[in-house]
Amino acid sequence: MNKAKRNAVIAGNWKMNKTASEARELIDGLLPLVKDAGCTVIIGVPFTDIHVAVEMTKGSNVHVAAQNCHFEASGAFTGEVSAPMLKEEGVEYVILGHSERRQYFAETDETVNKRARAALANGLKTIICVGESLDQREAGVTKEFVCGQVVAALEEMTAEDLKNVIIAYEPIWAIGTGKTATKEQAAEVCGFIRETVAEKYGQDVADALTIQYGGSMNAKNCDELLSMEDIDGGLIGGASLKPADFSVIVEAASK
Ligand code: PEP
Repeated sequence: MNKAKRNAVIAGNWKMNKTASEARELIDGLLPLVKDAGCTVIIGVPFTDIHVAVEMTKGSNVHVAAQNCHFEASGAFTGEVSAPMLKEEGVEYVILGHSERRQYFAETDETVNKRARAALANGLKTIICVGESLDQREAGVTKEFVCGQVVAALEEMTAEDLKNVIIAYEPIWAIGTGKTATKEQAAEVCGFIRETVAEKYGQDVADALTIQYGGSMNAKNCDELLSMEDIDGGLIGGASLKPADFSVIVEAASK
């Protein structure tokens, strides 16, 4: 982290976990544990938990994210939720382009970009996920692939837009597998991402951009990962469902 230059952000991605009543219990346990956080704290909840999450976090330091939004404001898109819908519910952030969305729900670089631009246009902040597969890493194309995803995701965005964008580097092989990237591997790719942003928007914009690492970050390995200059926080799956573990990660990012 380099807190002199940019915000440290710890975001939980609950994925498809927790009913509204379970969410209530989790948030109840979490709020007192993170109330003195020295970093931005976000919980990314399923759509059905948004109402409870927004209501319970009002007046606290915890922000609410959705896990997706459509690029159109309304229309015949059964099963989708739009950015204005999220905004009116009090959501502040939206996670976009998670590898599970790309893998299981045919999300592409193009739709991720469209969704991100719609989110920004509606006053939402975005966490845009990028990351390579194990095959890509082994084939030596990680830099090219991830930076390509970044360029595509930021298509038609201005430097002003970038103030509301966080990029999460999430190697697919590390998500939910318990196999974390080493701090060197994670920081190297976060550095490539920053270089890519600097080429397009200039060094000042790149220096101010929060780049998270995600992939089996937990209470044990967070200190090490967050000690790296280019890793400005984490997108946390499994460990975000356990308030005690999540709060240890928040504490590590608060130093
Ligand atoms: C994620 O869902 O973005 C994630 C990183 O999951 P996990 O922490 O469980 O690997």
